[in-house]
Amino acid sequence: MLEPSTPVQYVKGIGPRIAEILAAKGLATVDDLLHYLPFRYEDRVNPRGIAELRAGEMATVIAEVRTSGLFRTRRMPIFQMTAGQGRSRLKCIWFNGAYLKDKFQPGQMLALYGRVEENRGELQLLQPQFEILGEAEGEAEQKAAESLEIGRIVPIYESAGQGKLTSRWFRRIIHAVLENLKPELPESIPAAVRKRLDLIASRQALWKVHWPDEGESFQDLQASRTQAHIRLIFEELFFIELGLELKRREQKAQTGIAFELNDAVREAIKKILPFHPTGAQKRTLKEIAADMEKPYPMRRLLQGDVGSGKTLVAFEAAIIAIENGYQVALMAPTEILAQQHYFSARRILEPSGYRIVLLTGSLEEDRKREIRRHIAKGNAQLVIGTHALIEQKVEFEKLGLVIVDEQHRFGVLQRFKLMKKSGEQLNRGETGASARQNKGRVGTDTPVRPAEHSSERSAEPDVLVMTATPIPRTLALTLYGDLDISVLDEMPPGRTPIVTRRVGDERADEVWQFLRKQVTTGHQAYVVYPVIEENEENEIKAAMKMYSELSKKIFPDLNVAVLHGRMEPDLKEQVMRLFQQGKIQILVSTTVIEVGVDVPNAAVMVIEHAERFGLAQLHQLRGRIGRGAAKSFCILMTSGKVSEEAERRLDAMVRTTDGFQIAELDLEMRGPGEFFGTRQAGMPSLQVANLIRDRDLLELAKKEAGAVLSGPNSEISQAEIDRALWHMRTRWQKTYGLVEVG
Ligand code: ADP
Ligand code: MG
Repeated sequence: MLEPSTPVQYVKGIGPRIAEILAAKGLATVDDLLHYLPFRYEDRVNPRGIAELRAGEMATVIAEVRTSGLFRTRRMPIFQMTAGQGRSRLKCIWFNGAYLKDKFQPGQMLALYGRVEENRGELQLLQPQFEILGEAEGEAEQKAAESLEIGRIVPIYESAGQGKLTSRWFRRIIHAVLENLKPELPESIPAAVRKRLDLIASRQALWKVHWPDEGESFQDLQASRTQAHIRLIFEELFFIELGLELKRREQKAQTGIAFELNDAVREAIKKILPFHPTGAQKRTLKEIAADMEKPYPMRRLLQGDVGSGKTLVAFEAAIIAIENGYQVALMAPTEILAQQHYFSARRILEPSGYRIVLLTGSLEEDRKREIRRHIAKGNAQLVIGTHALIEQKVEFEKLGLVIVDEQHRFGVLQRFKLMKKSGEQLNRGETGASARQNKGRVGTDTPVRPAEHSSERSAEPDVLVMTATPIPRTLALTLYGDLDISVLDEMPPGRTPIVTRRVGDERADEVWQFLRKQVTTGHQAYVVYPVIEENEENEIKAAMKMYSELSKKIFPDLNVAVLHGRMEPDLKEQVMRLFQQGKIQILVSTTVIEVGVDVPNAAVMVIEHAERFGLAQLHQLRGRIGRGAAKSFCILMTSGKVSEEAERRLDAMVRTTDGFQIAELDLEMRGPGEFFGTRQAGMPSLQVANLIRDRDLLELAKKEAGAVLSGPNSEISQAEIDRALWHMRTRWQKTYGLVEVG
């Protein structure tokens, strides 16, 4: 009998070589195999008669091979096969089909799946997927195989090992595994939850998701919404949410600092305000202050688009801590950003007499030492530096608040590490004995005895993480479920919304006229060209060509310059400076301007070949304008036929400037891996759930996880809670690697 935890190599039919291929797909155990779900199903209960096919539909046809052959046309080899049912015939075509040359024998039965197309009044299947039926050794095996492949709804799996393990291989092995699976699988989801959501039992779900009943709704199957799918997807999300929720509650159960928010503190905050805070700034500060007043540690994420004014909120929070006699650490991802924060802090906070220091890697060693001494003695009240510097080497006298300007898109795992460090390492200055014991080891990777074991253990500092990434709610629930979230969803006043239009490039003349009008009234403009990574050379060429056309033919009387990634750094800087000073009126550029350019007088942006850009990139680019008081215009110029996907992106850009909405759509169109640039450590790698498709189940999972953690009651027993938590820990190990939860 197989157990879920049995390694795959103990399954009959899987040797070391196959196990290796499976491992590369993340399939190590029987449980993994069972959760390798079909990506679609074929209805072979009622396969279609060839005579009843209609052009345009996707169809499964079971038919017999009649003739086949390879034809060479001038452009490519085409493989053609004619399949038949009685007198009906159906032509199947594969372009570049040389690999199929000896594949089919007349008389073989095939299951074909593909789009039905009409060609000169004749129906055919273009590039169909196919399976040769009943291809087995002995007669008995043949029978068994056939029973899995014909006359039922058949699961189709993604193949593995460059096609070595076919869909059909998975079908047979998973079927065998199910048949040999231990009959009782322990139930990990509490009965009350199962009952409330009407969840079927785990074993039954596993059978049905691979081998649906004949009467199962085909639509539900393809949408992953059968009872079986729902059970398995919910289960996965439930344990992720349970872990995050537990983490969150644990953090809150630790001893924190109850900062006092009295009138004196309020006055001190009012005194520094350089402008009226926006409604969103007021609201988020209130949320942060409420956390800080509580006697357990704050773990909060402040989320706000670039320019939404996070810095001010961070400074206000810092004042609460400082006025209570504590020190604050502000960590930035880069030296430049640390410096920027330092300058704003001095401008805004120093007039009130707060003592601020900047600690960066480029300082002289002596200076660094001196600053560290200041910090250790408690002289410095606000310490600004890079993550690396503050994390590793600093002892505080009395640290109360850590602010992490994230900028990066950390996953759960990285953040856990960071927080652990912030909490434990940073606190060492204050933990008395443990700090003294570890002196000399500070800044090395030697594991430090966790603060929990120290009898003189003091309160955990509050942590505020700031991020500019607009994280859609579904992702926030999985990636940041351990944090409370505050959102700055309002821009400071004085910024006029950007007007976005799209036009075809046949109307380029009008666009240039408009640009001229804007520039002659004193504004500056960007004209942007896409750089497609594979072919940067060509794009630079295109930009250069356009530059010469714009500067010589269209705007010979205006100051036009060009900027691209391959220019000498000095020259780039010079161009940027001249543009900043207003001496360049039109800047023709590749996407290099996407990062860090801030010229408030630039009020127009023309993006050529806008259909080629990704949504996030378009949003970033557009963020370069609309920074001044003038009304800004973004013109998305397209060229030639625009794909349906590109159409949706452009529509979104015209419809909204809201980073969150754009991120949601981007996520929907590309999936979470792409959304974050690269698949990164700390993103949960989901087995059966899909964060976009399964939003509804995710919300449910969060709610139910909360209910379970509220403790035993008439609904849920302690034993059930313990079982669920045990199960959750095992799962987390697998999903996130070695993370301690609970
Ligand atoms: P971010 O959220 O990207 O860190 P910043 O904190 O740098 O944004 O703020 C962006 C700009 O907006 C800064 O120049 C800041 O001084 C200004 N700003 C912030 N809040 C307000 C406000 N309430 N009213 C006017 N300007 C503000
Ligand atoms: Mg900022």
